[in-house]
Amino acid sequence: MLNPLKNVLQEHQLKATSQRLTLLEYMMTHDTHPTAEMIHQDLPNISLATVYNTLEKFVEKKLVVIIDGISDGKRHYDAADHPHYHVINTRTNEIIDAANYDPAPLIKAAQAATGLKITEYKIDLYGVDPDSKPE
Ligand SMILES: [Zn+2]
Repeated sequence: MLNPLKNVLQEHQLKATSQRLTLLEYMMTHDTHPTAEMIHQDLPNISLATVYNTLEKFVEKKLVVIIDGISDGKRHYDAADHPHYHVINTRTNEIIDAANYDPAPLIKAAQAATGLKITEYKIDLYGVDPDSKPE
């Protein structure tokens, strides 16, 4: 039987090792924006170092994106298989997916302003619950 994840890895010039397959499947089935530590907790058979190295490889191949700037100081990861943007609650550090925005006009504007061909983008917005008490 054809393994679609195996194909994805091969299309990105990555050897389909069982650990890479496990990690790619994990990233594509979890929308929790995990840190490497969180993934390692769920997949204790894969060492933390391997989780880190594999994620960085995936980032390099644009299979995974990094979400940073979260005040927990940790690097969070997200599968890059569906276009969406992030809204980060700065009080709770919750990273929320949202897809109700078409970035095409922004991409067009960026190209017009710079002459560059935009090849990737990342949109993170930060906010607080309006009902929460000020600190
Ligand atoms: Zn996301």
